[in-house]
Amino acid sequence: MQPVQIKIVEDRDIYIKWSDNYESLINLIKMRKLCPCATCASEREVQSKTYIPLFAGDQIKVKSINQVGSYAISICWKDGHNTGIFEYPFLKYLAEK
Ligand SMILES: [Zn+2]
Repeated sequence: MQPVQIKIVEDRDIYIKWSDNYESLINLIKMRKLCPCATCASEREVQSKTYIPLFAGDQIKVKSINQVGSYAISICWKDGHNTGIFEYPFLKYLAEK
């Protein structure tokens, strides 16, 4: 499954149209909160009980989206964070969650 169209909707959601015509809409705050990079993952793990992840401003605005091979996209957020690789199955999972 490949995305055929990816766009940001009103600085709030990411819209993905897949090669089978399936459409996903994922909230950007949710994506940032569940960023799969090692830094964010370990932060969530260490602080899981007490930590309330609050994101605002440039942290939840997308600067650019880049394709990674044929299996994922990476998101460069406006605050400069760009190490999260979102694999396609994970994107679908987020959209359905
Ligand atoms: Zn991250």
